[in-house]
Amino acid sequence: MKLSRSALAADQTHHIHPFSYPAAVREGRFRRIVERAEGVYQIDSEGRRSIDAVSGLGCVNIGYGREEMADTIAEAVRTLSFHPVFWECTNPYSAALVEKLDQLTPANMQHFFFANSGSEANDTAIKLVRWYWKLQGKPQKQHVISRDMAYHGMNLLSASLTGLQPCHPQFSLPIAGVSHIMAPWSWVNGADLDDEDFGLRAAQALEDEILRVGPERVGAFIGEPMQATGACVTPPASYWPEIRRICDRYDVLLIADEVVTGFGRTGQWFGQQYFGFEADITVLAKGISSAYFPVSAVVLNTRVGETLSTNPEELYHGYTCSCHPVGAATALKNIQILQDEGLVERVRDHLAPRFWQRLEALREHPLVGEIRGAGLGAGLQLTADKASRSFFPEGSGIDALVARYTWDKGVIVRDLGADTVGLMPPFITSDDELDQIFSALRHGLDRAL
Ligand code: PLP
Repeated sequence: MKLSRSALAADQTHHIHPFSYPAAVREGRFRRIVERAEGVYQIDSEGRRSIDAVSGLGCVNIGYGREEMADTIAEAVRTLSFHPVFWECTNPYSAALVEKLDQLTPANMQHFFFANSGSEANDTAIKLVRWYWKLQGKPQKQHVISRDMAYHGMNLLSASLTGLQPCHPQFSLPIAGVSHIMAPWSWVNGADLDDEDFGLRAAQALEDEILRVGPERVGAFIGEPMQATGACVTPPASYWPEIRRICDRYDVLLIADEVVTGFGRTGQWFGQQYFGFEADITVLAKGISSAYFPVSAVVLNTRVGETLSTNPEELYHGYTCSCHPVGAATALKNIQILQDEGLVERVRDHLAPRFWQRLEALREHPLVGEIRGAGLGAGLQLTADKASRSFFPEGSGIDALVARYTWDKGVIVRDLGADTVGLMPPFITSDDELDQIFSALRHGLDRAL
């Protein structure tokens, strides 16, 4: 579809864009106008083809514009364009997705509730935690502990869980009953310790907070196995197993927000498998449908799921489009593509090793302080001084500058803030495209120096 002048003017004047500077949009300073996308490429209004090295927002894992996805979605729309799974109803698409997920997911993922976004799914997870503890006769266990730098979404509750400070003041957040502990960000919090000791210290912050709030009041801890938006903070191996032990010690439910890590980003189907732990509740979105249709899910282990799914009372929670038949068909086809093409194995065995080899080659670059991540996801921590680990002055926008210069060479990377540049290429990226990504990134780094 071509963009008309009048539509662009309407967008400029009447569209309040998320995570944008409204005044810049009003002045027509759009960063990019994308008209089409295919494979790993976005094609903009000036006809430029850029490799999308961040898979949209860490979601388009199977690549853009796939014919078989279009066919599947069209067929589902023709057959059953809507049907609510409310009031004890179901349909072939929704049921087939549940069957597929049940077969695919590890033993701690047993019961599924569906929503349309990561934000809704995280809100749902916390509501289910509250209800679970009430059913257990512990209604006071309502407090949730999250982490600084976390990104869990933008609804009132999920934005409260989010630990990126700029997301709070405009909306008087966080709401009561949510607190944050330090992120397992060794670059900032762990200069004095080796990785493994730092992981234990970062996990200790959870125990300290549980004891501060009172274990009888803490219902859950939530974290992304590897943070994405939050500077790609990635904990050392000692962190998650210790978090699991602490949650068990104080009878606190562990929620893994796998909105980004779920469905292969780490080279395992789920980030918990990569980091070696099992959550009680897992939150999925993005990669479940590669964002061809908005689909998200909250997955409960047997302990929580059996309690909730055998309760005789009505569940007073749900969304019009929960497990939408077209969404279910989309997710099913996406999962089938991941399986048929062995894309998760491709990430693990082929792409990730090459990706990290190329990342390692950037470590000596004067701007690069640290490289964090797992599988096919990484963040480059830029620094003004490697020895003192110093940040650039507030507002320098160094990561945006690197992203801008990288784009000059036809590759889209993401400025994550905190002087960090993020990379999350699609799972179908070829070796040649991977080389192009890194040659453009090196150009971006050199120019920003
Ligand atoms: N959780 C994580 C880890 C995310 O990265 C995101 C979005 O980027 C969300 C939750 C929120 O998802 P949504 O934007 O679909 O509401």
